[in-house]
Amino acid sequence: MIVIDPGHGGTDSGAIGINDALEKDVVLSVAKEIIVLNKTIFDERFAIYLTRYTDTLISLKDRGQLTRALKADVFVSLHCNALPKTSKGMEVYVHDPKTLQPHIKKSIGLGVSILIESTGKLGFKGRGVKFANFQVLRETVAHCSSVLVEMGFMTHADEADYYLKKKNIRAMALAILMGLYNYFNAGL
Ligand SMILES: [Zn+2]
Repeated sequence: MIVIDPGHGGTDSGAIGINDALEKDVVLSVAKEIIVLNKTIFDERFAIYLTRYTDTLISLKDRGQLTRALKADVFVSLHCNALPKTSKGMEVYVHDPKTLQPHIKKSIGLGVSILIESTGKLGFKGRGVKFANFQVLRETVAHCSSVLVEMGFMTHADEADYYLKKKNIRAMALAILMGLYNYFNAGL
């Protein structure tokens, strides 16, 4: 069971792109494409659930609660970065551990796996796996592998424009799915 969490939604647009695209729309379109590719390419190999399927705002608490209720194996929150203006590339956040518990180690493995696929195949600069104390990670990491993926910078012209093309939405969705596939296959 994989929970994909498209960040923001509704009144919370997230980052606003230099091309006026909204983070909330980009992350939802990638999440929906992950569902499609799981059917068309992966033959429904994964059970995938989204925390939101439409342009609505779900509280951070509810996103965590849903993940726990579904007894998810993996939680992947999708976001895009913003500012400073010259910044570009992808990074993955894992909950900042006080002690290196099993789910933290697995989360780092998942983060590396997603970054290898997305930076290696799509040409995004890799900014690495980083630690942060984000609520959605804090509320899920005790229960499953949990990462927050920043899929490039909305404030960088090339990266904001990347998501204007449907084929690029699909490419990012596939990279994330391949990252998950390799993570599970590696038995991390
Ligand atoms: Zn965000």
